[in-house]
Amino acid sequence: MTTRGQSNLFSSHLRPPWPADVWSLGRFRGSQWPDLKNKFPSLPGRQTMRTLIAAIFTAWVTCAATVVTAVAAPDLILHNGKIVTVDGRFTIAQSLAIKDGRIVAVGTNADIRKRAGKDTKVIDLKGRTVIPGLIDNHAHFIRAAEHWHQEMRLDGVTSRKQVLKMLAERVRAARPGDWIVTLGGWAEEQFTDDPRGFPLAELDRIAPNNPVVLQAVYIHSYLNSAALKAAKIDENTPNPPGGRIEKDASGKPTGVVQDAGGVAFVAAKVPLPDREKWIDNTRKLVADLNQMGLTAWLDAGGRGMSAEHYESYRYLAERGELNARALWTTIRQPATPEQVEKVLAEIPQQKPFQGNDYFDNVGWGETVYGPVITQLLRPESNTKPEDLAQMRRLALALAERGLYVNSHVEMTAAIDAFLREYEAINKERPIKGLRWSFSHLDQVNEAELERMKKLGMSAQIHSRPLIQGALMHKVHGDKAWEMPPFRRVQESGIHWGLGSDATAVTTSNPFYTLWFAVTGKMIGGAKVNRQTIAREEALIAHTRSNATILFQEANLGSLAPGKYADLLVLDRDYLTVPADQIKDIKPLMTMVGGKIVYESKK
Ligand SMILES: [Zn+2]
Repeated sequence: MTTRGQSNLFSSHLRPPWPADVWSLGRFRGSQWPDLKNKFPSLPGRQTMRTLIAAIFTAWVTCAATVVTAVAAPDLILHNGKIVTVDGRFTIAQSLAIKDGRIVAVGTNADIRKRAGKDTKVIDLKGRTVIPGLIDNHAHFIRAAEHWHQEMRLDGVTSRKQVLKMLAERVRAARPGDWIVTLGGWAEEQFTDDPRGFPLAELDRIAPNNPVVLQAVYIHSYLNSAALKAAKIDENTPNPPGGRIEKDASGKPTGVVQDAGGVAFVAAKVPLPDREKWIDNTRKLVADLNQMGLTAWLDAGGRGMSAEHYESYRYLAERGELNARALWTTIRQPATPEQVEKVLAEIPQQKPFQGNDYFDNVGWGETVYGPVITQLLRPESNTKPEDLAQMRRLALALAERGLYVNSHVEMTAAIDAFLREYEAINKERPIKGLRWSFSHLDQVNEAELERMKKLGMSAQIHSRPLIQGALMHKVHGDKAWEMPPFRRVQESGIHWGLGSDATAVTTSNPFYTLWFAVTGKMIGGAKVNRQTIAREEALIAHTRSNATILFQEANLGSLAPGKYADLLVLDRDYLTVPADQIKDIKPLMTMVGGKIVYESKK
């Protein structure tokens, strides 16, 4: 198994110019005790300064005793399994030992079993496969918590009939007036029985008294009459910016609201929960992610983010109750030169890495300057010189502050335009070492990948065709077969990782992302991508590579001594299951920092 381009791309000297204490926060707490014991010097035997030596001796014995105890008794041993460590050599082991939330040893059953103390718990894996917890390098889960109690997720549902059944069940369980929403993560094309949307009359029949919003990807929303009424959308409502309220011949809304601006307009009408409910939503969302196999992600913020969105995560993280690691980037979406001025004043105050290993800011993104953003379903790129100039002012200020920057860029012309600006910035203030990255990169070519490598950048590639694959073929024709170009990116040797862009534009389930990268199939089974990669390459890209992208390579990404015990016990073997079953893999157990955060009842 080659791991070309996956290791040591960010050597340790290439770090942002943060003071060592800031930079190393939460990064090097890994226990080195097993080695320390052997490194202690033997005691001096001289008779002089007896008192002093006795004192040193006492201290040494006390210290050494503590060390020996810590080494001798792991809290937990997982044994008799197929442990896919995803370390630099892709080692497969049988057993591992955990102490204080970290892995202390990995090896054979016999080697690890010897370490058990009287209080060590032992779990027999019965031959099951263990992999590192999956890490998503691009998701919007911090935002998604806002409506989680109202969400009816359609992730992976391939039958329209099934959706109607699910909705009827939700209505039965709801009180009149409760909202039922699906804010993206699905598209009509994933239904194999009847690939259509949801007309107003049909939704009204099922849900006469509950507002219903079914938002397909980020393209359009289907509303029932109760939702139109609650949102105060009628014949007099003007179209929102960037959106269109569909109306019939008599001028009445049809229930369909079109385009990104329309989708955002409708989503903003769904009532927000109070603080207590928001915290509860956050717990439930994270529990759902744990059940799917996610243990960490890079959060890209999104539309309408507020301090409240971050607050529930911070609250849980500070109490040790956040069961996943949410590393996030500051998002600002200036759209005019005046707004750029405001943001420029804010950048020098930015201080990343002030949180803990569960909730922390790592830099800036995914928008730099709003007007230069591109869209997956629009072939053209907006790269006007005056907009690029604003983007460059901001990016230069971020470089001067030494911040990590992630930019949303999709089409090849936009990638080229961003790279030209970054190359110019790099001459003024070197960005190599700041680990800048591009997200999405659906049309990146070889030359652009080479230029990115020269700037020390990483590539974050996403599984959005899982639901948008058919639409992408309509818009981009044959080019869509290579969007995104997994194989080209893998072969370029650039540091890269996998993510989803959940929850609005993709399903959240990381096994769907792995399945897509390996098979090129969208939900429902249609093949839409020919740039597939090997399952081992996909797994590395969804674990170890992403750990580096999250600035957590000392803590996460592989099952190795010193790293956190973030891992999954799977119901089938990822390495040998037929490729089409990768999407169906389910964790039987999910562990984060040595704590079991999900366990199947089976
Ligand atoms: Zn994006």
